[in-house]
Amino acid sequence: MRAKIVAGNWKMNNDLSQTEALISDLRTQNKTSNAEVMIAPAFTNLWHASEALRSTDIEVVAQNMHFADNGAYTGEVSADMLKSVGIQTVILGHSERRAYFNESDESLAKKVDQALKHSMRIIFCFGEELNDRKSGNQEQVVESQIKNALFHLEESSWSDIVLAYEPVWAIGTGETATPEQAQEMHAFIRKTLKEKYGEAVAESTTILYGGSVKPNNAKEIFSKPDVDGGLIGGASLKAEDFFQIVNAF
Ligand code: PEP
Repeated sequence: MRAKIVAGNWKMNNDLSQTEALISDLRTQNKTSNAEVMIAPAFTNLWHASEALRSTDIEVVAQNMHFADNGAYTGEVSADMLKSVGIQTVILGHSERRAYFNESDESLAKKVDQALKHSMRIIFCFGEELNDRKSGNQEQVVESQIKNALFHLEESSWSDIVLAYEPVWAIGTGETATPEQAQEMHAFIRKTLKEKYGEAVAESTTILYGGSVKPNNAKEIFSKPDVDGGLIGGASLKAEDFFQIVNAF
């Protein structure tokens, strides 16, 4: 059985006291699904969040990391630094990182290798832009993002990779891919994995959907056979909304 995951990407929201408040709200929520739950606060709050959630089944994950071990990379954070504050999982390749911080397939491939070298789990994000979908190129774009950053990996590495398909046109816009569009792309991704790595990797890899998932649409999206959960932005900033999504499984 593939892991079901609902991960909240807080982006550049919540200072320390807001993080404390949201975490205490999260702790009061009742979880009725068997999905794994993750939240990704800002770097400055990872230590506090991982301590505050230590005895719960909510995992604290990072939004990014650098590909080098250490050194002259002002403003960056390494895998060792993340691990030293209790972080085992990192989101890589979010479309905002690609768009505003020039992250390329090549630099992401290096980050992926670095995370795996440190035995970290990766939530790897990718997805087409609106123009790509309008011109019918969405599968080509997604396939090349996956191939360029991940297809150098050994089969055994895939147990630490979670994929997150996030069509850029649906992130933070209120516009969601229809459940059918999500299913169609997830099935294509699984087929692409199968062609390269075989049935076992394809069937065991968790593929999340991200892009304006809300309490009122999560159930329908998650009901699709190849959708194994969600990466949630805006709706992860309210504990009740986030847990309605978690419990949509
Ligand atoms: C995201 O940032 O990964 C995301 C899916 O955001 P939102 O849910 O706000 O569209």
